[in-house]
Amino acid sequence: MTVLVRSRRVVTPEGVLPLGVDVVDGRIAGLVPYTTHEGLDLGDVALLPGLVDTHVHINEPGRTHWEGFATATRAAAAGGVTTVVDMPLNSLPPTTTVPNLEIKKKAAYGQIAVDVGFWGGAIPGNLGDLRPLWDAGVFGVKCFLSPSGVDEFPALDANGLTRALQELARFDGLLIAHAEDPWTLTEPTGPSYSEFLDSRTQEAEVRAIETVIAVARETGARAHIVHVSAGDAIAVLREAQAQGVRITAETCPHYLTLSAEEVTGTAFKCCPPIREAANRDALWAGLADGTLMGIVSDHSPCPADMKGLDSPDFVTAWGGISSLQLGLPAIWTEASARGFSLEDVVRWMARGPADFAGLSSKGRIEVGADADLVAFDPEAGFVVEAGDLAHKNPVTAYQGRSLKGVVQQTWLRGDAPGHGRFLTRGAR
Ligand SMILES: [Zn+2]
Repeated sequence: MTVLVRSRRVVTPEGVLPLGVDVVDGRIAGLVPYTTHEGLDLGDVALLPGLVDTHVHINEPGRTHWEGFATATRAAAAGGVTTVVDMPLNSLPPTTTVPNLEIKKKAAYGQIAVDVGFWGGAIPGNLGDLRPLWDAGVFGVKCFLSPSGVDEFPALDANGLTRALQELARFDGLLIAHAEDPWTLTEPTGPSYSEFLDSRTQEAEVRAIETVIAVARETGARAHIVHVSAGDAIAVLREAQAQGVRITAETCPHYLTLSAEEVTGTAFKCCPPIREAANRDALWAGLADGTLMGIVSDHSPCPADMKGLDSPDFVTAWGGISSLQLGLPAIWTEASARGFSLEDVVRWMARGPADFAGLSSKGRIEVGADADLVAFDPEAGFVVEAGDLAHKNPVTAYQGRSLKGVVQQTWLRGDAPGHGRFLTRGAR
């Protein structure tokens, strides 16, 4: 027997069961009765599959002072996340060609504490790079429909979007899109949060999502909407999915757990914005009925001075929220209050994102899967202190918040995190 760990509450695809997890060569070789007297006994502390976060901005190389592979992946491990997929922008160069992907991998090599995969990028002029990026193992390519915030990663216009999806349809690739309509966004009339919120409406998101749906429908290509914030978008997505359009979508902890009414400063700035409390109900309903495939962090940090914390100005502050280490307790706090279970949370934060990315050995506790595991005490609590997090910059919108659920220990392929691997699309 090689039972690594056992718990009375192992969250498996078949339910929450009292089991021991038998690990051989980093894989789950068997699930045995809890009553076996082998392995670390967690008792009532739950055992979850390692979470899969398919939306992380690591920013290295080039903006390594914003975040880096070592700090981000250590924060991930501390937060119960054993797989991250890195976004193509904010690092320099952006991941828009195969040589640039190689530069990024070289920067990451030897530094990653958990497993890391990569998204490519679709920008004006790199149509010919999309297939080579796909063949090099990226999980898909990301595009923006409105300005991304960095000059080296321009948005696609309507024609560029169509051409990208036509190209991706040829090899059944995947486009992931930041969906805010540039013609509906307006310039904020002042520096306050309400003026920022008014400049980026639900309508801007819904229009851009409708554009992506229309082109996905027309081309037959597979598309995905990142970080849905607008509750109004859920019905639009649901209808398109029912009609057979190949469209999926995600949301993030900050849209589900924070509200515009609670914004106390520019640590809360992100695009699309955190909306009014009532908006969250539609997002939770979209998760409950499967319209949204899951919850990912959109961890997008920057140095504290770029957040302008001392003189809050929502026009000039960098947009992005740091939460890689906090997603699980933030979501568990709100999900449990709304009557959802740990199984729901695992479906949204582990299995759903893994299936979306085609990572069939991740995000599930079942025989044959990687032994990526998290000991999670759902009843314990803590108060967020940004300086205690492994994130490179101690800024987070969750500062001072009381959260429920504590990650006690994380395993990557049966071992302590530390030796992550590069993941490529389709590999097991
Ligand atoms: Zn992002």
